[in-house]
Amino acid sequence: MTDKLTGIAASDGIAIAPVYLLVDPDLSFEKVSVTDTDHEQARLSAAVEQAKGEIEKIRQVALVQLGEAEAQVFDAHLLVLSDPEFLAQINQVIQEEKFNAEAALTQVSDMFVGMFEAMEDNPYMQERASDIRDVSQRILAALLGVTLASPSTIDEEVILVARDLTPSDTAQLNRDYVKAFVTNIGGRTSHSAIMARSLEIPAIVGTDSITQNVENGQMIIVDAIEGIIILEPTAEELAEYRQKLKDYQTYRKDLEQLIDSSSVSKDGVEIELAANIGTPKDVKGALANGADGIGLYRTEFLYMDASDFPTEEDQYQAYKEVLMAMENKGVVVRTMDIGGDKHLPYLQLPEEMNPFLGYRAIRVSLDQIEMFKTQLRALLRASIHGKLRIMFPMIATLEEFQQAKSIFEEVKKDLLSDGQDVADDIQVGIMIEIPAAAINADQLAKEVDFFSIGTNDLIQYTMAADRMNEKVSYLYQPYHPSILRLVKFVVESAHKEGKWAGMCGEMAGDQTAVPLLLGIGLDEFSMSASSILKTRKLISELDTKAMKELADRATTECANSSQVVDLVNEYISR
Ligand code: PEP
Ligand code: MG
Repeated sequence: MTDKLTGIAASDGIAIAPVYLLVDPDLSFEKVSVTDTDHEQARLSAAVEQAKGEIEKIRQVALVQLGEAEAQVFDAHLLVLSDPEFLAQINQVIQEEKFNAEAALTQVSDMFVGMFEAMEDNPYMQERASDIRDVSQRILAALLGVTLASPSTIDEEVILVARDLTPSDTAQLNRDYVKAFVTNIGGRTSHSAIMARSLEIPAIVGTDSITQNVENGQMIIVDAIEGIIILEPTAEELAEYRQKLKDYQTYRKDLEQLIDSSSVSKDGVEIELAANIGTPKDVKGALANGADGIGLYRTEFLYMDASDFPTEEDQYQAYKEVLMAMENKGVVVRTMDIGGDKHLPYLQLPEEMNPFLGYRAIRVSLDQIEMFKTQLRALLRASIHGKLRIMFPMIATLEEFQQAKSIFEEVKKDLLSDGQDVADDIQVGIMIEIPAAAINADQLAKEVDFFSIGTNDLIQYTMAADRMNEKVSYLYQPYHPSILRLVKFVVESAHKEGKWAGMCGEMAGDQTAVPLLLGIGLDEFSMSASSILKTRKLISELDTKAMKELADRATTECANSSQVVDLVNEYISR
C-alpha cells in the first residue's frame, strides 16, 4: 500500500515533482583547542569567500525575481562579510585563545548580536543583529560543509516541503518552479495559505508530519483539491494523477471563457465578485481572473516587505498603481493590519500571550497615529486615480470607528488646505470580524459607508479556535448556524441603512457557502483571484429566491454545520 498523508487543502491544484525539503540545517560542532592557528585562519577565510559567493548569487536571483528593494537585504549581508572589525576579532580569538574557527566565529558573532540586540529602541541595530546572525550561520555552514537551503533561488521544478512558511517566505516563491508547497503546520486562513492562493501555487498545510516523512529529491504527488499527498506513488498512481492534472488544467481553461462576463444569478441579480490582493503585483492575477473590483487590498504586506516603514511616497505609488490598473472598478484598501501572525521586524511589538487578541490592526493605528496619518495621506492623494474605498480592520466598537474616521477627516482637510486634489466620493467602511461588531452591526451601519465581513477572524473569535492551529481546525466551521446568523444580521443591518455589505474572508469563495451567502443577500464577494471564475459559474446557476429560502431555513432550522451542508445539497444539484 502506498503511504499517504492528509492535510488541509489551502490552495487548489495538483502537482507532481520532487521534494525540496526546507529544514533547519544541523550546524552543531565541537569547540576544540587547536595548535595550528594558521590553518584555522585559512579555513575561516575560505569559508568567508564561499559565503560571499553564495550571497552574491542569491542577491542576483532576488534582483531578477523580486526587485531592487528585496535584493538590498543581501547587500547588508555582504557588508558584514567585508567588515574588517568583525573578521579581525574572529582571527584574534583563533590566534590568542586557540579555538577552532567554528568556536571563534560563534563567540564573536554572539557578542556582536548581543550588543546590537541590547539597543532595543534602535530598529536599525536590531536589523544589523539579524544580518550578523544570518551571515554567521552561512559561514558556519561553509566551515562544516553543510549546504543551506534558500527557497528564493530554486530554479528547477520542485514541491517545497517545510515545517512552516512565513508570509514573506511565501512571497518569495517563484511559481514557475515551485509547483506546490506542503507544511506541517497552518490552517486554510493562515496568511501563507492566503498568499499561496494569490500566487496560484497549490498548497496543503497542517499535515503535522510531512517533513519527517519525505526526503530531498523524492518524487511525490500533491492533490491540493482533496488535501492528499502520495508519498511513494506507483506507476499507476503517477499515470492517474498526470491525467487528473490535465483535466484540472482543462477545467481551468473552460472557466476562462467567463473572464469578461458579468457576475449575474440565474434570475438576473447582479453581484460584485472582487479579488483579495496583497501587493500591486497581484492586480494582474485579479484582472486575468475577471475580477469586478478589489474587495480587499491587504496593505500590511507593503510594510512587511520593507526593512523600514514605507514612506508616504512609496505608499502613494503602490496605491496609485492599483487604482489606475483597476480603472473605474472599486478598490477597497484596508489600512494596515499588523499583529497576529504578521510581524514587522522594525516595529517592536510586545511579546504577547495571545497575539490574535492583542495589539493588532486598528489598535496599532490608533496608538501610533503618525504612522496611520502617513498611510491615510498616501491613500487620499492616490484617491484621484480611481475609485477608492477605505476600510478599517478589527473594529470592535463604534468609538474606534469614530476616532479613525475623524483622523481621516483631519488628514483630508489638511491636504485640501495644502491645495492637494482629493476625490470627494471616498467611501469609508469597516471590517466586521469581531463578534462584538457583528452583534452591534445595526448601530454601526448608521455611521459607516459599508461593511466587509472578515470571516477568517470572525470564525476564529466566534468559535474561540485559533485560525493557525490545526489541532482545533475542526472548529473552523464557516457553515455553522452561529456564523450564518451573524452574517445574516450584518447584511440585513447594512441594508436597513441603505449601505452595502461584502465579505472578504475566505468563506466568500467557498462553494458550499456561496449559495447561502447569495440567499442572505450579500452584495459583494471578495476572494482569492483563483476562486472568482468558479464562483461566477456557480452564481450563474443559482436562483436568488430559492437561495433566500435555503438561507432562511439554514438560519432557523439547523442546529449544526452538517445539517446546513445537507440542506445546501438538497437545494443544489452538483
Ligand atoms: C478576515 O479576517 O477574514 C480577513 C479578510 O482579514 P485577514 O485574513 O487579513 O485577517
Ligand atoms: Mg482579519
